[in-house]
Amino acid sequence: MANQMDFTKVVAHAKEYGFVFPSSEIYDGLAAVYDYGQLGVELKNNIRQSWWRAMVQMHDNIVGLDSAIFMHPRIWKASGHVDAFNDPLIDNRDSKKRYRADVLIEDHIAKIEDKIEKECAKAAKRFGDAFDRQQFVSTNARVLECQKQIDDIHARYADCMSRNDLDGLRQLILDLGIVCPVSGTRNWTDVRQFNLMFATRMGSVIDDSDTLYLRPETAQGIFVNFLNVQKTGRMKIPFGIAQTGKAFRNEIVARQFIFRMREFEQMEMQFFVRPGTELEWFKHWKEERLQWHLSFGIPADCYRYHDHEKLAHYANAATDIEFRFPFGFKELEGIHSRTDFDLSRHSEFSGKKLQYFDTELGESYTPYVIETSIGLDRTFLAIFSHALREETLDDGSTRTLLSLPPSLAPYKVAVLPLVKKDGLPEKAQEIVGTLRREMMVQYDEKDAIGRRYRRQDAIGTPFCVTIDSETLADSAVTVRHRDTMQQQRVPIDQLNSYLKSQL
Ligand code: ATP
Repeated sequence: MANQMDFTKVVAHAKEYGFVFPSSEIYDGLAAVYDYGQLGVELKNNIRQSWWRAMVQMHDNIVGLDSAIFMHPRIWKASGHVDAFNDPLIDNRDSKKRYRADVLIEDHIAKIEDKIEKECAKAAKRFGDAFDRQQFVSTNARVLECQKQIDDIHARYADCMSRNDLDGLRQLILDLGIVCPVSGTRNWTDVRQFNLMFATRMGSVIDDSDTLYLRPETAQGIFVNFLNVQKTGRMKIPFGIAQTGKAFRNEIVARQFIFRMREFEQMEMQFFVRPGTELEWFKHWKEERLQWHLSFGIPADCYRYHDHEKLAHYANAATDIEFRFPFGFKELEGIHSRTDFDLSRHSEFSGKKLQYFDTELGESYTPYVIETSIGLDRTFLAIFSHALREETLDDGSTRTLLSLPPSLAPYKVAVLPLVKKDGLPEKAQEIVGTLRREMMVQYDEKDAIGRRYRRQDAIGTPFCVTIDSETLADSAVTVRHRDTMQQQRVPIDQLNSYLKSQL
C-alpha cells in the first residue's frame, strides 16, 4: 500500500538526500532562494534535457537560443514590465504579515471549490457506478450555490483588476470575511501595487551608471532576437525559438518551497505564426504540452487545464496547465496566444521593423505568437512530490520510495557487492566501469544489503545490481527492480542491454 507524503515530508526528504537545500543555510538562509544538491542537479538537468529534446530536437522548425540575463533597460519598458509587472499586496496590521491580495481571494475560491469536491465525493459514494458528475454538478442545489458564489467573486475580482481598483479589491477581501491565517483578524491595510522586478546597476561610476533589471522572464530575449534567428537560420513561418534560463522576481509572498522562488528557471518557447492561424496553433500547443507532462507516466487526473476568462489586453487566448501539488491544484505551465503585441512593441521602441516576408502570400507582416512557458523548478516539485511515497510492505515493515520516472532518475543503477571481501568489490568495480559509459551509476559497499536497497529506493534509483559469491562462478548478477522489488538473474555480458531496454 502506498501513501503520498505530506508537504513537510517532501521538503525534508529533498534536503536529507541532497536534492534541494535552502540557499546560504549556514547564514540562516535567504528567503525563497534554494540550491540544488548533488542529486537535485541531476534530476533538474534530466527534466531540462527532456524538455529541450521534446521542443527543439524533435522539431524541424524549432531552434534554441541562450540570451543574456542582462538586457537593454528599454526592453522592459516596451514589454510593459516597468509599468505593469505588479502584484497587489496587502498587510495584516496584527500579524505584520504581507500577502498578495489576489492570492487571498484565489485561496478563498479554492475553499469553495473544495466544498463542491466534497459534495461530489459524497454523492459518488452514495450512487456508486450510476453517479454522473456532469449531471450532479449542474443540478445539485448546494453545488449550484457554491458555483454561483465562485462566479460572483470572479466577476468582482476581474472587474477590480481591469480598472486597477485597489480599494475595490480590499473591499472584496473584507466582504468575503477573509482573515489573516496567522493572526485570524480582518485588520487589513490598503492594497498597494508592488513591482516584481529586481533592479541593479551597470557601470563603474554610480552617477552615470544605468539601471538594469534582472530579467523576470526569458521570453523577451527571444523576441529581441527574432530577426537574428529568422534571418541567419533561414526560418520559415511557422517556426519557434526556445530557451531555458534563470528568471528573477521579487515575489511578495514566497512560500511553498521551490513552487514560488525569487530566483528560478524557466523553459519557454515562442512560436511565430501567420496572423489568423494563431488559435489553431494555440490548440495544438495546448495539447502537445499536456502530452509532454503525461509522458512521465503520472496519472492524467493530476493535471487539468485552467482556461483564462479574463485575458491580458494583448492576448486572445490563454490557458494554464495545473498540477495537483500536495497543497492543491496550482499553475505549472502557461500557454498564451500573445497576438503581435511583443514584436510590435519592440518595433515601436527600438525603431527596427520586426517583420516577416511571407513568400507564399507575397506580403510582409508582424507574426503572431503562441508562447509555452513552464517553470523548471515547479516541474521538479511536481515530479518529485508525486514520486515520493511511504509503502507498507507485506511483512508489515515500511519503506520510503521515490518512484521517479526512470528516464529522469539521477542514478539509473546502483552496483552493490554483497560483502566487502572475496573479490566481490573488484568485480563490482569492473561492472561499474562498463556501465558508466552509458548511464549514471553509483557504487555502494557500506552497510547491510537491505539498508543499501532502502537508500537507493529513497533516491529513486530504478535498478540495483548485486554481486554475490555465485557471480564469480556463473558470471551473472541479481538485478532488483525498485518499484516491484522483484529480482532477476542476468548474465553480466547482457547487463548493459538489459538495463537499457528496461530504461
Ligand atoms: P503565478 O501566477 O504562479 O505567479 P505566473 O502566471 O506569474 O505564475 P508566468 O509569468 O506565466 O507565471 O510564468 C511561467 C511559468 O514560470 C509559471 O507557470 C511557473 O511554472 C513559473 N514561475 C513563475 N513564477 C515563478 C516563481 N516565482 N517561482 C518558480 N516558478 C515560477
